[in-house]
Amino acid sequence: MNSTMMDSPLTITALLRRGARVFAGSEVITCEGEASRHARFGDVAERTQRLAAALQALGVKQDDRVGTLSWNHQEHLEAYFAVPCMGAVLHTLNLRLPPHQLAQIINHAGDRVIIVDDSLVPLLAAVKPHLRTVEHVVVVGAGDASALAASPSFDWPDIDERSTAAMCYTTGTTGDPKGVAYSHRAVYLHCFAIWGAFRIDDTERILTIVPMFHVNAWGIPYAAWMVGADLLMPSRFLQPQVLCNFIQSERPTFTGGVPTILGGVLQYVLANGSDISSLKRAVCGGSAVPASLITAYRDKLGIECIQAWGMTETSPIGTIALPPKGTPADREMDYRSTTGRSVPGVELRIIDEDGSEVPADGESVGEIEVRGPWITASYYNAEAPEKFHDGWLRTGDVGHIDAKGFVQITDRSKDVIKSGGEWISSVELETLLLGHPAVADAAVIGVPDEKWQERPLAAVVLKEGATATPDELRSFLGSKVARWWLPERWAFVDELPKTSVGKQDKKLMRALYAEGKYPVVELAAAPR
Ligand code: AMP
Repeated sequence: MNSTMMDSPLTITALLRRGARVFAGSEVITCEGEASRHARFGDVAERTQRLAAALQALGVKQDDRVGTLSWNHQEHLEAYFAVPCMGAVLHTLNLRLPPHQLAQIINHAGDRVIIVDDSLVPLLAAVKPHLRTVEHVVVVGAGDASALAASPSFDWPDIDERSTAAMCYTTGTTGDPKGVAYSHRAVYLHCFAIWGAFRIDDTERILTIVPMFHVNAWGIPYAAWMVGADLLMPSRFLQPQVLCNFIQSERPTFTGGVPTILGGVLQYVLANGSDISSLKRAVCGGSAVPASLITAYRDKLGIECIQAWGMTETSPIGTIALPPKGTPADREMDYRSTTGRSVPGVELRIIDEDGSEVPADGESVGEIEVRGPWITASYYNAEAPEKFHDGWLRTGDVGHIDAKGFVQITDRSKDVIKSGGEWISSVELETLLLGHPAVADAAVIGVPDEKWQERPLAAVVLKEGATATPDELRSFLGSKVARWWLPERWAFVDELPKTSVGKQDKKLMRALYAEGKYPVVELAAAPR
């Protein structure tokens, strides 16, 4: 039987119309260093039409890819709407990628036009000779171009909700970068997931620290627009000091960022006493969030720091870690420090090496698989059958799940440490080490060992002026994990290699270790 419901398409155009009509007075605020630039949603919507008209005049048609090489700011938001709503595909480019990878991605996606910040022109110029499909470059800068501007009216076409709205490539730490093509429908439904999971509305002022080139800034710009929350964009001013000044003057209530950035803000505020008291909540994810960061945000800043998990392939929201009902205050961290429960719309299961589901006992470990309307079902023009299993996405994350549905990631499958046939969680050792007052950064990798096949090596960056010995750090871990997890091998280093989105680059670390580049101190083995 056919239903009698309207078949309204789930498109970004519908989101654009809503924000422009219902919340014309909400604001987009872009940081410009010392000052900020304010624009109302109504004006942003009008400029979005002008941009679409200008792109059309350049010959951009349905399905054409338009790349953006930009920081988080108002003009990038305008491209976020103009490109998908005219039926073309927004391809956000990661400005931290090495030039050869940037060229590879632009060529693979077949971008016809690239919108670039004037501050990033040198980066684009370095890759331009290698680009095969780009016909036009649009430079976004401070100059007033209104005299040349295209007409402010543009008739948004009807769009099939299953057509591609946007693309983002994975970072390619474990192989070539692969393209994920988000449909209008996926972006639309994901907005509702963000709305529900983050509980945001038009009383919020949302600071988007997550770059707009990384998984659509977690979908926050679209969701904020949909609910009329003011959007605060830091542009290229991501250093803790300028960011804190921006927070102090523009008073956001909500933000989202990776642990490194939120950790930097925390250190800066503790050392310099910035007033960031307007912030009430900060969602944190992208890598495991140390419990010490969550408690420091709560106790020292009065901010609720909420862990979430996701991937480029999952749009990205997959889980959120909020305590279940009835949790006493002193047990909240038992849940907040986990990877969380799946959000409505996302199904999640954990599969062992034989391909069967592990019991939800909070112990049995396997690979996390997910499925849902905003989870990718394939990669753009790339075969990757190993990433899928019976209609589920294999996340490459390894962990366990408990009876209440709380997941704990213990490792990336490529980074697991198997010692004497048993798993050691590098993520758990790292997050514990980050709780030590002298430790600024820490990474644990598996290294070959004659007796146990593999043992953990802890590479540690100490805070400026702080001291700690391997013995001290090992005793610090001592009471918190099984004795046989305790690393014998320790290396103190100045910095740890990071990927283009700021995650530990363990592949490179293992290579550096194999080349003897780490100054390793070896302690006597702790008894098993
Ligand atoms: P990306 O596609 O670059 O966003 O990376 C996705 C990966 O980041 C996931 O597969 C996880 O390995 C990692 N990740 C994201 N959020 C978390 C989290 N809360 N805890 C642990 N790992 C995370």
